[in-house]
Amino acid sequence: MTTADIFETMDYGPAPESDKEARAWIASQGPAFGHFIDGSFTPPAETFATRNPATGEDLAQISQGSDSDVDSAVKAAQRAFAKWSKLSGHQRAKHLYAIARLLQKHSRLFAVLETMDNGKPIRESRDIDVPLAQRHFYYHAGLAQLAEDELPDMAPLGVCGQIIPWNFPLLMLAWKIAPALAAGNTVVLKPAEYTSLTAHLFAYICNEAGLPKGVVNIVTGDGRTGEAITTHDGIAKIAFTGSTDVGRHIRRATAGQGKALTLELGGKSPYIVFEDADIDSAIEGLVDAIWFNQGQVCCAGSRLLVQEGIADDFHNRLKARMDNLRIGDPLDKCIDIGAVVDPIQHQTITRLVNENRDGETYHAAITMPDQGCFYPPTLITGLSPSAPLMQEEIFGPVLVSTTFRTPGEAVELANNTRYGLAASLWSENINLALDIAPKLVAGVVWVNATNLFDAAAGFGGKRESGFGREGGWEGLLSYLKPNTKLAPIKPLHPVAPPKTATSPDLDRTAKMYIGGKQTRPDSGYSQAIFSPKGKLIGHVGIGSRKDIRNAVEAARAAASWGKTTGHLRAQILYYIAENLSARSDEFATRLTDLTASSTAKSKAEVEASISRLFSYAAWADKYDGQVKSVPLRGVALAMNEPLGVIGALCPDEAPLLGAISVLAPAIAMGNRIILTASQAAPLAATDLYQVLETSDVPAGVVNIVTGDHAELGKSLAGHMDVDGFWSFSSTADPKMLEEASCSNLKRTWINSMGNPDWFDKQGGGRAFLQNSTDIKTIWVPYGE
Ligand code: NAD
Repeated sequence: MTTADIFETMDYGPAPESDKEARAWIASQGPAFGHFIDGSFTPPAETFATRNPATGEDLAQISQGSDSDVDSAVKAAQRAFAKWSKLSGHQRAKHLYAIARLLQKHSRLFAVLETMDNGKPIRESRDIDVPLAQRHFYYHAGLAQLAEDELPDMAPLGVCGQIIPWNFPLLMLAWKIAPALAAGNTVVLKPAEYTSLTAHLFAYICNEAGLPKGVVNIVTGDGRTGEAITTHDGIAKIAFTGSTDVGRHIRRATAGQGKALTLELGGKSPYIVFEDADIDSAIEGLVDAIWFNQGQVCCAGSRLLVQEGIADDFHNRLKARMDNLRIGDPLDKCIDIGAVVDPIQHQTITRLVNENRDGETYHAAITMPDQGCFYPPTLITGLSPSAPLMQEEIFGPVLVSTTFRTPGEAVELANNTRYGLAASLWSENINLALDIAPKLVAGVVWVNATNLFDAAAGFGGKRESGFGREGGWEGLLSYLKPNTKLAPIKPLHPVAPPKTATSPDLDRTAKMYIGGKQTRPDSGYSQAIFSPKGKLIGHVGIGSRKDIRNAVEAARAAASWGKTTGHLRAQILYYIAENLSARSDEFATRLTDLTASSTAKSKAEVEASISRLFSYAAWADKYDGQVKSVPLRGVALAMNEPLGVIGALCPDEAPLLGAISVLAPAIAMGNRIILTASQAAPLAATDLYQVLETSDVPAGVVNIVTGDHAELGKSLAGHMDVDGFWSFSSTADPKMLEEASCSNLKRTWINSMGNPDWFDKQGGGRAFLQNSTDIKTIWVPYGE
């Protein structure tokens, strides 16, 4: 094509990026790669090929990591942890800064290698993946520098096992390694089997930067290697990004091991276009939302919801835009759409689209390359909200679409999914946009934008999109733990009936407290509660699954609590404190009866409970979000949102203070809670009913059940309509509870390492607030 032709047609000419240096680098390495363990590369053993999906060509051989490779890597990381965790924040910052500089220096090589291995357009790897990976190391060099002073009560976890997917190989590596190292941990990372090359290049960078050996270890291989990492007992935390199915498997495999866990999983994110939107911008945004990286993006705007009045026009303009997309050699700088990662992924996309019988399918009218793993940009319109393709993550360049009439319907459709990762919404009406954004069940919301990411802004999901945030201070916190020692828990059971028991003057059987009413247990059974001295103090109902179901239903019906102001919630918490204070002698006597503690100690527990209620009343309107400093004309708002409905097993050791310490932060942050009272001494919690009834707590906000922790805990942890689950029980098995939580992958906080001292500041404060909230990042770019 001549220059004159180009002027004539305005067509793009080819502009291929050279792969010469990348090929030379691969050849110089073997081209078979071992693992990177303890600062050195192991000789390649059993290997498999990594291919260029755009051509089908074998690029190199990658080693399949065995159990013993993983074991060596974990041991190297454990040895390195001893020194790395003791370095000053400044020393660690210098290492992270050196890595950032070297990533920048070698950025072209990283970008070309990534495109060859993954199939993504060079434009994206060069302008998005690699610069964002650099930014992550720069930002976290800063967090390493500051954390010592800003988070003095926190300590690193130990060796972190990190497992990442193939869609953003270097970027996901950066998202994992930078915060882990900044916090003082060491890592064993496994790249995805399709895309290990940039992780290998990164290993060279670590050595070039003078990173101490063993701080970063990279073991390659498939799911078997991942399994060896998740089940290794030398690992303190698993950070996983990948599919919901594997995430669920990992939740199960790590249950009861006391490992920290964050899961960044799949999505089916809505892209909502209101009729007053800037349509051309919304179309360009949509191209980025669903065709960026061939749609192989966890937060892809893969579900278009368009307001009915503009739907036809919008679809027509979108089809015209699709017909102008350029698909082909990913190394060509003019290409919009590259290859999908592997023939297997291609087959999955093809099958899902071909099996669909609903709506109308439109493939872009573009010239397809005659070889390689390419799939055309595709739009499926007219689907019903329940159609399989509206619900299933396709993970390819396929957009599905439906229409809505009102903003309320848009929210309903948007939230009609098991996922909750991201959402985009387009409207020129700022009032409407900022009204809708908080109503979307998603960890990230983009207003008039899409796919904005930055190291300073937390990213992560809700529901089956997983839990935990990456980026920002919130991401750093998930690589830290409080540096105080927790008290090991002694199992506490109800006192066994003595041979001869004295009876109380009146028969008092405490009921359940559900939906603001005292209700009889569904089982119709109750249990006698004795003092350690053998005195029969009263009876409590034996709760069952049915009571849990009723309590969850009541809690869900009280959803408006989450929308009340912090000021109102504070007033109600103060009121509970006031009413508890008015009856403090009665509660102290009850505690002495239940636990045989001295009158002074019981009074101290009541006083501490009142003080704790005051603390969370104070926090209710002060646990603020943040405005993040992202490189954008606009703001990224980090808002603390309630989880929703929390189920909790109260501690046994401080029957009143424990229940208050669990209840107060949860409701202060706008959650509704189902408390399972101390199993050993439930009557302290059941005495709260009257306090709650006289304190203006709306029905369903606090629900209290009594009975066996293991049985009730299993029901609560497994319940699909419970969003978060906490256990401070001395008897319920953490493994069983974490396994049960796999049902909807709810966020859990389970005391497998011990309980805080409830009388100390560790029994209150920020950890409880953090576990009561999810951070939602709302991006609002501005300017004409
Ligand atoms: P995948 O779950 O198949 O694999 C992810 C990683 O897990 C790979 O390294 C794989 O080898 C490993 N793995 C597989 N089986 C394992 C096992 N039993 N134990 C331990 N590790 C195991 O996912 P994928 O196909 O590589 O990636 C696509 C998925 O990732 C999509 O669902 C996408 O939405 C999700 N994703 C999520 C995010 C996010 O931040 N939420 C980001 C990128 C991708």
